[in-house]
Amino acid sequence: MKKLQMVDLKSQYQHIKEQINAGIQEVLDTTAYINGPQVHEFQKSLENYLGAKHVIPCANGTDALQIAMMGLGLKAGDEVITADFTFAATVEVVALLGITPVLVDVDEDNMNISIEAIKKAITPKTKAIVPVHLFGRAANMDAIMEIAKEHNLFVIEDNAQAIGANYTWKDGSKQKVGTIGHVGATSFFPSKNLGCYGDGGAIFTNDDALAHVIRGIVNHGMYERYHHDVVGVNSRLDSIQAVVLNAKLPHLDTYGQARRKAAKAYNDAFAANEHIVTPAFDFEGDDHVFHQYVMRITNGKRDALLTYLQENGIPCAIYYPIPLHVQKAYADARYNDADFAVTNKLCKEVIALPMHTELDDEQIAFITSTILNFVQ
Ligand SMILES: *Cc1c(COP(=O)(O)O)cnc(C)c1O
Repeated sequence: MKKLQMVDLKSQYQHIKEQINAGIQEVLDTTAYINGPQVHEFQKSLENYLGAKHVIPCANGTDALQIAMMGLGLKAGDEVITADFTFAATVEVVALLGITPVLVDVDEDNMNISIEAIKKAITPKTKAIVPVHLFGRAANMDAIMEIAKEHNLFVIEDNAQAIGANYTWKDGSKQKVGTIGHVGATSFFPSKNLGCYGDGGAIFTNDDALAHVIRGIVNHGMYERYHHDVVGVNSRLDSIQAVVLNAKLPHLDTYGQARRKAAKAYNDAFAANEHIVTPAFDFEGDDHVFHQYVMRITNGKRDALLTYLQENGIPCAIYYPIPLHVQKAYADARYNDADFAVTNKLCKEVIALPMHTELDDEQIAFITSTILNFVQ
């Protein structure tokens, strides 16, 4: 059996090695290390793929979120609502900009931001909602866009984990997640669904004026060379990373299918087990691209299972072990722990299994039988 890994980037690289090696060699030969033609090509290809009017590449997903908020003019005193159950980058940039983060609970079934909790958290100071399409599954954008419209709020989609996923609107039509809100932010960190070989990120928007503002912000607030109109940042995607992304983007949908196939095999194997709650999803659809396969162990033995799997050579992880509202950096007297019942519970029950594009049947059979051996 091939060695089990949470993410197998090396096997994936083997399939596209020649193209990537040749592309990187070209960058070395032409020395256009930053903002070379590869970056422009990637920007255009991603705009096409997403059906987004503007893609602005940047240095990483955290920057993408920060720049999106700067572009929208969010400032100290404003409140931004986001999920308690997510990676810290989302709330980190809010706090860094001096904006007040307002963490809210998530839903138990899809682990995404709770619509009821958003409604309760809105105040006259609320300026934006940041839904995170957690683990690769689209948040409830019908409801979120409706609330935003009603209260005149911006929607910034944290799409770091769900690039390629489609959201199915109530009327059945589909739209790529990340392109639904006023602005979307994504990450090309190596282990993300569309990962480069270093850091990378991008901002998406369909708003021409906002795209213009953001293009200046990523480049030191310059709209004309050496004229600094606004305070900006330095956030660029380099050409070598664009080579990798250009090679991988045409495979993104196939990668998503491979992930869904692995997820379905996990779901089928665990279907009859009363202590395992698996992520429900439509195998034929593409609303979930399984950045992570996260299931719940409801008999209180999650931590014991984690140890057992590690002893048996099966990598696994807890995303996320600690709710953001109790993290030292983000705890606040405004929060009442009872308002975060679902997040508190999920943090104790979730476990992520190996998930990547190269999992084979033998590996999945070994992982699932080992788990079923322990969870009875
Ligand atoms: C990875 C991630 C980010 C940050 O992306 P980086 O490229 O690592 O800065 C932000 N939000 C979520 C939900 C993520 O998973």
